[in-house]
Amino acid sequence: MYTTLGISPEVVRLSEKVERKLAERFETIDRTAEYNQLKVLHAMQKNRLQESHFAATTGYGYNDAGRETLEKIYADVFHTEKALVRPQITCGTHALATALFACVRPGDEILSPVGPVYDTLQEVIGIRESIGSLKEWGVSYRECALLPDGGFDYDAIREAVNPHTKLVEIQRSKGYLTRPTFSPEKIGELIRFVKGIKPDVLIMVDNCYGEFVTRDEPSDYGADMVVGSLIKNPGGGLAPIGGYICGTEECVNACAYRLSAPGLGQEVGANLGLLPSLMEGLFLAPTVTASALKTAVFAANMYEELGFPCFPSGDAERFDIIQAVTLGSPEALKAFCSGIQLAAPVDSFVTPEPWDMPGYDDPVIMAAGTFVSGSSIELSADGPLRPPYNVYFQGGLTWFHGKYGIMRSVEELKRAGVVKLHGI
Ligand SMILES: *Cc1c(COP(=O)(O)O)cnc(C)c1O
Repeated sequence: MYTTLGISPEVVRLSEKVERKLAERFETIDRTAEYNQLKVLHAMQKNRLQESHFAATTGYGYNDAGRETLEKIYADVFHTEKALVRPQITCGTHALATALFACVRPGDEILSPVGPVYDTLQEVIGIRESIGSLKEWGVSYRECALLPDGGFDYDAIREAVNPHTKLVEIQRSKGYLTRPTFSPEKIGELIRFVKGIKPDVLIMVDNCYGEFVTRDEPSDYGADMVVGSLIKNPGGGLAPIGGYICGTEECVNACAYRLSAPGLGQEVGANLGLLPSLMEGLFLAPTVTASALKTAVFAANMYEELGFPCFPSGDAERFDIIQAVTLGSPEALKAFCSGIQLAAPVDSFVTPEPWDMPGYDDPVIMAAGTFVSGSSIELSADGPLRPPYNVYFQGGLTWFHGKYGIMRSVEELKRAGVVKLHGI
């Protein structure tokens, strides 16, 4: 089948060689998935999930037992008092913006103690000017850079916390930066430190791409809110839209009033028939996340074998599903993305081209052929066309698809003359 799908014997041999080394890593990933599968199952059973919960509601959506059960299940999975999970939260950025706007008031300050916040949040906060930003509402922002070794700058953080500091945002995943992704435990250390300085400060963790990568979540270490997108890990590839906010009752209530309207809160929000996908997606999320993780580890080991620097490195412990590879030339970056696209189940026949994306200084090339538009738990890759020509990729609904995608990317690099595979 690999020959039928355009993979040469050299690439098959290289991938067999790399895969043999990874048996133990993969077993660890599977053990985590096993634990998380049981965690999700337990929450579904505890909340007596039943067929009637899958019924579609329309209009206001009062007394939507299915929606309420989904939110109770999420709260139990993340070990929080409450959760807000619904299709009315359109994406991760919307979930994060809802949480921020819900919990601060004019005169308050937001602190990021882990360097810059994710790109799209720059506009939410008003670091980049935007209509309706928190800055327009009189909310200020401060950030502390990480130390050169990627650690927390505790002295700077102690100095930055002031009487106006209301909310501390901690982004778990490196996103598209080259800094470490933090384990939930490491985030816990930071939470203890900040709460030690100012006990009533609220901690919000941007948990995007981190869900189910480990057995624990930042909410196990005192975060007031963990926030993320359903078209990443927790949607399991089936959720067609949505975001979640899990946290204390007080915070989640505030978010619900912000999302709908004061006085309405969590009581409205029809499920529009999406609950089967949201429930089943969560059920599949632990094994889907494991497939994405195996794909990332496999890719790092394949590309290191070919001499490309990888971040995280092939042997590094993982706390999110994003992999960066420094490809070193525009030809290599384009070939990599072509390979991912050629491997896709959807739109495999199109060729990705770099384009001038609004908000970016350099042309960006992207590859994705997904069932859910823009879903990044499905195999996808992108990178700006500038030195050192890093590609960032993530996802893989199944390990075998992720593996084929990486093999196909190597095949394209080989065809473009970027790598030679003699003697393998
Ligand atoms: C993807 C992501 C977001 C934003 O989510 P969208 O669904 O793209 O709006 C925020 N933070 C991090 C770390 C992310 O990876």
